[in-house]
Amino acid sequence: MAPSLEAPESVQDVLSNPLKSAPKLVAPEPEHCPGPESETAGKADSCAGCPNQAICASAPKGPDPDIPAITARLSGVKHKVLILSGKGGVGKSTFTTLLAHAFATNPENTVGIMDTDICGPSIPKMMGVEEETIHVSGAGWSPVWVMENLGVMSVQFMLPNRNDAVIWRGPKKNGLIKQFLKDVEWGEMDFLLVDTPPGTSDEHLSVNSFLKESGVDGAVVVTTPQEVALLDVRKEIDFCRKAGIKVLGIVENMSGFVCPKCTHQSQIFQATTGGGRALAKEMKIPFLGAVPLDPRIGMACDYGESFFDAWPDSPACTALREVVKRVGEEMGLKPETLLPED
Ligand code: SF4
Repeated sequence: MAPSLEAPESVQDVLSNPLKSAPKLVAPEPEHCPGPESETAGKADSCAGCPNQAICASAPKGPDPDIPAITARLSGVKHKVLILSGKGGVGKSTFTTLLAHAFATNPENTVGIMDTDICGPSIPKMMGVEEETIHVSGAGWSPVWVMENLGVMSVQFMLPNRNDAVIWRGPKKNGLIKQFLKDVEWGEMDFLLVDTPPGTSDEHLSVNSFLKESGVDGAVVVTTPQEVALLDVRKEIDFCRKAGIKVLGIVENMSGFVCPKCTHQSQIFQATTGGGRALAKEMKIPFLGAVPLDPRIGMACDYGESFFDAWPDSPACTALREVVKRVGEEMGLKPETLLPED
């Protein structure tokens, strides 16, 4: 017989409280058990004499007491957007930095990036602040400010050596994400972009759980055109639907290659099944646009520069401006709120 995984937990249970860990009981629950995760577990009359009593009495109960503190801390952030991808390598973090730079081109906007890719933080490098560290004041942790109106927070800033591997299990990752949200002084901010690792893991559950009360505008899902990437995007969209996260739309990244010299366009990743546009139609969610592959985007990220400032007339920049406008439309914002008027 083929080996099988443990029976999965109920999706709704995990999504409603991913941080809750059911107490490990030493005996089966008796007939009149009030429930090992209930408020009265271990203390109810019916618990008397139960071998699990001490375990149940000391197990954490109820909603996370830090949620109100997170909600208060983020009360000055007008819009929170998750950036998701089903698969790694589709340019999600690159897209996050491009979106942040695009929002920040309007000097009226204050923009933040929260890098929750704890095991592979790449945002600091892409934003040119890799060597920075976090400043702690009485008000909390200060984000690292890339520009006057663009701040970043990442685990990278806490590592003594940028090549150190971060080998953390779920609870520690959850704890750090909570701290990012609870202790970072984001202040008055127009947009907070939350860059998440690929897939649907602990980090997604934590972010969703912690931000539920303070409200998330929605998620932008990044993909590349080929079916192998779209397969995982379907799962990501399913996750969002189960978690009650509005999907603002799909962005197709690396959608064709435009030669910077001759502007000839060629397809590197073939959209064999119709790409992001067809998937958006199939899943009944908005298609936010397609951004072509441009080696100068990678160069800008390597040097920590704004692609918008460096190559404002490139086809990729034009495509990105359209994507930003579409994101804004889905958030119910006027275009001039996002980008300065042309
Ligand atoms: S101690 Fe109470 S809550 Fe825990 S298993 Fe026994 S009866 Fe159930």
